[in-house]
Amino acid sequence: MKNTEFLDACRSAIGAAHVLTDEADKAGYLTDQRQRFTGAALAVVKPADTAEVAAIVKLCAQFQVPIVPQGGNTGLVLGSVPDQSGQAIVLSLKRLNRIRAVDAVNHTITVEAGCILQHIQEAAAAERSLFPLSLAAEGSCTIGGNLSTNAGGTAVLRYGNTRELCLGLEVVTAQGDILHGLRGLRKDNTGYDLRDLFIGAEGTLGIITAAVLKLFPQPKAQLTALAAVQTPAAALRLLSMAQGRCGATLTGFELMSDLCLQLVAKHFPQLQFPFSQRHPHYVLLELSDSESADHASVLLEAVIGDALEQDICQDAVLASSSAQSRALWQLRESISSAQAMEGKNIKHDISLPISRIAEFITVTDALLQQHFPGCRNVTFGHLGDGNLHYNVSPPAGSSAEQFIERQADINRVVHDSVDRMQGSISAEHGLGTLKREEILRYKSPVEIALMKTIKQALDPLNLMNPGKVV
Ligand code: FAD
Repeated sequence: MKNTEFLDACRSAIGAAHVLTDEADKAGYLTDQRQRFTGAALAVVKPADTAEVAAIVKLCAQFQVPIVPQGGNTGLVLGSVPDQSGQAIVLSLKRLNRIRAVDAVNHTITVEAGCILQHIQEAAAAERSLFPLSLAAEGSCTIGGNLSTNAGGTAVLRYGNTRELCLGLEVVTAQGDILHGLRGLRKDNTGYDLRDLFIGAEGTLGIITAAVLKLFPQPKAQLTALAAVQTPAAALRLLSMAQGRCGATLTGFELMSDLCLQLVAKHFPQLQFPFSQRHPHYVLLELSDSESADHASVLLEAVIGDALEQDICQDAVLASSSAQSRALWQLRESISSAQAMEGKNIKHDISLPISRIAEFITVTDALLQQHFPGCRNVTFGHLGDGNLHYNVSPPAGSSAEQFIERQADINRVVHDSVDRMQGSISAEHGLGTLKREEILRYKSPVEIALMKTIKQALDPLNLMNPGKVV
């Protein structure tokens, strides 16, 4: 009875066509990206604008119905799917997909939360500007989801995480009020930073409906190189060298172990491996140059030349066209899919002080071999940001199912090692439900208590994405 009344009220607020209750219609919103979990929902509700979001949230508060906000549903920690109780609604933001304004003088773009990241990049490019957030899911993830997970991606080294790219937010609070914070200010010290509270909150404090984002000048040239190195320590020496020479021109610095590229070669044979022999590790460097392609190429050749001379790297290829650059990036971006095609595996999205990454890999690889002999480390990531995807596959030819059963033990080894080196067990994917319990072991009681205090203050009825994060 309560549910019928609630759903009727939702239909009156936004139109019956946008309140999905048929199981077949809801199905596409209930399973996570990696198909690990399927939840249930009272309805999938699809408002068209901020006023409609506010109306739905007010109804949820009135009828005490939990809300699971959802953008592109590409999140990797089960944050955007409901639990199996069937009591919550999924609030899809996808219809809030307008670019509201571009301010060429303030270098900002104002967008709604459901805008697909790639569309924002394209809208910026149409104004001869750059919106630098870039990640492999950019064709389907939304900016609301990027902000709510404080997504990282491949250009953090130069431009920062999504938080650093956002100047203002419009948010519907848990009470259904609209927080009008779409200010394009680079300085604003007027009390607590409410904007930053909602960024990275994974939908547990309110619904982001729009944002003012920073734009940057488009680089005149982008140049990519792949360098072969013996060890992660050598990769770090190359990083220091490249940063010293190139400064902010260095926009990407990605590490990949040889096993990563072996899996890519196996599952994507059409992608060409550019070296005549294999090496233990590879680094993908990208320069984004504001002067010219010639300038970028002189810089990159100098860095690689020095690195070869000092035996920091043993071989390198420089892309001489955007097609070749694309081909090198494809190697990097195909690793996750190749590992998935190889079979089930255990993923860790960790960050460390950059100075400790080499030590972390050496120590933790050894610990894993000691406890789980033969397991295969598929280590890659945004080395320039101190962020590794430290993934572990079962020994070749062994049962993935049995290996996955030991996930908690493997996580313990990896996460304890991260913790000993003052790192984080979630660098860019968030906590969702996947790491909600795990984080209790690694954050101090004071931090957990403060997070709970904030949650309680902003969402006293615990209706905003309950069961996620805290
Ligand atoms: P969803 O998955 O729909 O939601 C993510 C979280 O945000 C959920 O908790 C949800 O409830 C909440 N949420 C969504 N929209 C809103 C809103 N408007 N208001 C409040 N809460 C909301 N992440 C990185 O950081 N770096 C990477 O390089 C990267 N690469 C990826 C590559 C692939 C192939 C895939 C599948 C994912 C990758 N991710 C990466 C994960 C990343 O978090 C997501 O791709 C993206 O940021 C989430 O956007 P989304 O719209 O899909 O959000």
